[in-house]
Formats: sequence, structure tokens, C-alpha cells
Amino acid sequence: MKASYVIGNWKLNPATLGDVQALASALTAGTGRCQVGVAPSFVHLSAAKAALSAGIWLGAQDIAHKSTQTGAFTGDVSGAQLADAGAQFVIVGHSERRAYHGESDAVLAQKITHAFASGLSVVFCIGETKDEYQAGKTLDVLAAQLQVVADFASQITADTDGALPKLLIAYEPVWAIGTGLTPTFAEVEAVHRFISETLAAMQVFSPILYGGSVNDTNAETFVKSPLIDGVLVGGASLKADSFARIAAAF
Ligand code: 13P
Repeated sequence: MKASYVIGNWKLNPATLGDVQALASALTAGTGRCQVGVAPSFVHLSAAKAALSAGIWLGAQDIAHKSTQTGAFTGDVSGAQLADAGAQFVIVGHSERRAYHGESDAVLAQKITHAFASGLSVVFCIGETKDEYQAGKTLDVLAAQLQVVADFASQITADTDGALPKLLIAYEPVWAIGTGLTPTFAEVEAVHRFISETLAAMQVFSPILYGGSVNDTNAETFVKSPLIDGVLVGGASLKADSFARIAAAF
């Protein structure tokens, strides 16, 4: 049975430690083929770890670009610090980091290097903007963004058997994030097929998740495709019952 992955990206939420503890303790691990993970803020990692049920993976939303575990990098957090706080994976390349922090492909490659050297898995996000989508450039944009992972092919092992994969790709169209809009099922499938073929040509083997306005109503649509290995969920991951329904769909 092929595994599927439902991962919550909490972004800059919730506001208080009490709310983090309440949310984390209300989550249930995936059942059957579904594996569940969540990525809280740095400051909430340890509290979330303590409150999460066994079997739910914990991740961070960012990692320092320099592959040093300690040093003079104000504001940065190293892979060793993340692992020590209980994190098993880190999100790299989210469109909000690319847009608001100007993260380039070179920086993203450094972050992946650092994460892998620290024993962390990576959820690598790619996606086109609305303008790129409307101009029919989606596949060109994704092909360019995927070049970042080509250099890591030798480090990415094919399968896992219930373990957290070393790399997961999350296709998140920027225009679908937080908007309530999603591409059609056929569009998502076509893009996932393209990503899968592009990765295979690089000898990179990774589950491919969809992200962007996934909720407990539309999740069932995405489940239907063998090309969609799971979802990366923003807003709907902040409500334990919605998130549980999404996980149950997978
Ligand atoms: P929403 O589910 O809120 O659209 O966010 C998606 C996302 O950016 C997950 O990383």
C-alpha cells in the first residue's frame, strides 16, 4: 500500500503557547496508509513536540542557510537546534519565504544541504504565480524550480516503508494559497505527472503533495489521483477537526 502524507503548515499561527498546546494535543496520528505531520513556529516546536501524539511528525518552517550548527548568525536556527527540539523535517522553498524574504534558488539549495547534513527531511515547495499560470508558463516555472533538487539525487533514497521520506515535493500554486481557489483536478494531475517525470529524469524519487486551499471538503477530490501522494495544508490545519477529516480522506 502506497503511503500518503498530510502535513499541516501552521505558518505564523497560533498566537499563544496555550493555543499551540491545545491544537497539538487535539491532533491524532494518521491511520492506515496516511502519515501526518505539522510544522509550528520555531518558538513553539518544543511545546508542540510535548503535546503531540506519538507518530505525528514534527517539522520546522525554515532553517539557516549556512551549514553550521552554531555560530554568529543572528536570528537563524540550525538543523541541530531543530532536531534537538524534536523536529524531523523542515519546509524549504515556500512561496511566502521566496516572496517576503527573497530566497533564491542558491539559498534554497544551501538550506537543503544544511537540513540533510542535520538528518532532517525536507518538504520542498514549488509553484507558479497567478501571472505565470495565466501566461501558460506553469511547467517552465516548475522545471526551473525543480533544478534545485537535482544536485541532491544521490542523497535521496527511493523508499521508506512508513518512515519519513528524505524529500517530499509540495506543488503549491501561489494563487491558490489562502484564496479558496484551486486548479482543477485535471490540472493538478497533469502538473503532478510532469513533476514526477522531471524528478525521474533526475533520478530523484519523492512523494508529491498538493497544497493551496485544501480543506475537508475538497480533500476527497485530490485523494482520487494516484499521482497525488498527499497534501500540504495551511489554514485548515489550524482546526483539529478539519485537519483530522483531511487526514481521514487520505
Ligand atoms: P492554505 O491551505 O491556507 O491555502 O495554505 C497552503 C500553504 O501555503 C501550505 O504551505
